[in-house]
Amino acid sequence: MSTRLQQAMRLDESDALQPFRSQFHLPDSRHGQSMVYLCGNSLGLQPTALASEMSAELRQWQTLGVEGHTRGRHPWLPYHELLREPLARLTGALPTEVVAMNTLTVNLHLMMVSFYRPDASRFRIVAEKNSFPSDRYAIESQIRFHGFDPEDALIELEDAPGSGVLTTDTLAEYLEQHGDQVALVLMPGVQYYSGQVLPMAQMAELAHKHGALFGLDLAHAIGNVPLALHDWEVDFAVWCSYKYLNAGPGAVAGCFVHDRHCQGRDQNLPRFNGWWGHQPEGRFKMAAEFRPAEGADAWQLSNPPILALAPVRVSLSLFDQAGLGALREKSIRLTGFLARELTENLSQHIHILTPEASEQRGCQLSLRLRHGHAIARAVFDALTQTDVICDWREPDVIRIAPVPLYNSFEDCALFVDRLGEAIDHVR
Ligand SMILES: *Cc1c(COP(=O)(O)O)cnc(C)c1O
Repeated sequence: MSTRLQQAMRLDESDALQPFRSQFHLPDSRHGQSMVYLCGNSLGLQPTALASEMSAELRQWQTLGVEGHTRGRHPWLPYHELLREPLARLTGALPTEVVAMNTLTVNLHLMMVSFYRPDASRFRIVAEKNSFPSDRYAIESQIRFHGFDPEDALIELEDAPGSGVLTTDTLAEYLEQHGDQVALVLMPGVQYYSGQVLPMAQMAELAHKHGALFGLDLAHAIGNVPLALHDWEVDFAVWCSYKYLNAGPGAVAGCFVHDRHCQGRDQNLPRFNGWWGHQPEGRFKMAAEFRPAEGADAWQLSNPPILALAPVRVSLSLFDQAGLGALREKSIRLTGFLARELTENLSQHIHILTPEASEQRGCQLSLRLRHGHAIARAVFDALTQTDVICDWREPDVIRIAPVPLYNSFEDCALFVDRLGEAIDHVR
């Protein structure tokens, strides 16, 4: 056994969160080795408690029929409220500021309906150059919907030269010159490709200083890094729940609307309405007039998919049991261990794109393989033959994300061993 592996096993023994690993299903090994799953940035693993909880929800429908709305263990009418407090803890929000609903891109559109209100002078959206395609498509289509041209209205900030990170200075420079034309600044919390944690609080402050609204896509941030959306005065945020939140493929997503936009404080705020956004007390009076529910709940459209909310509920309870503070503390050590082992042993073959400072990264590391696309791809393919599951991004990047809830130091050590072997094998 390598000294790396021995050291990793000692670190696991003293890890207070280690018992959580057995509360998740690890995928089956396909090549006879122990499974190293480092893909929680793409799809989190299934909690072992989920199957019986799903059966309980199905039983409620079997045994109560429509009365399941008001009876049973978790009546369906107020079901989404069960998620409110846990989501508020993960996002640093007031409970009324968050709601679990729809999917990420749908929520992004609904938020832009309310918070992208261009006029002839302020019509630009500032985003990042390397934004996730879905976000880009949503932004461009919103701009066109309002009769503007993305060529002119979409500003994509580039990484600071040579650094691979997006800085507050870059945003500040743009806003100093053109801030009076900007309606909205929309940024990721954690950049999906590089793994950089953006300076969310500073960027929110800058946007506001120049009279723009500030929104966040937290797809790679929620459940990964600490957030304080309320105190940072972020106007809105959206996220998905199948990455670090482990709520399953296509899981019900969520969004945040800052309290200052709620409770009718902004009478002119446009919003697409549906009956589930109506005040719950009067919802079933079926009145012609729409009276918005308190807080982010007002943005709900339909009665929610209970069977799809159950995995979110189960998964969030694991975050509450572990505590985000303890998870983050382990995450910093886990990713730090992995980064150190990679740098000390494989830096002639790989370069870590993700910033080194722990406050500038979450659990993910993005590794650029140094020897060109063909070798990089061959290394990735060889790695997948050794029961390592991680993720490939064109042209030459492997993303790995040790997740503190279920990954171990041993996983990290095995990854470094197997990556080294894959590189040797290909070269
Ligand atoms: C994962 C991810 C998405 C996915 O969008 P869906 O609507 O959930 O399919 C969107 N944006 C970002 C930044 C992501 O990382």
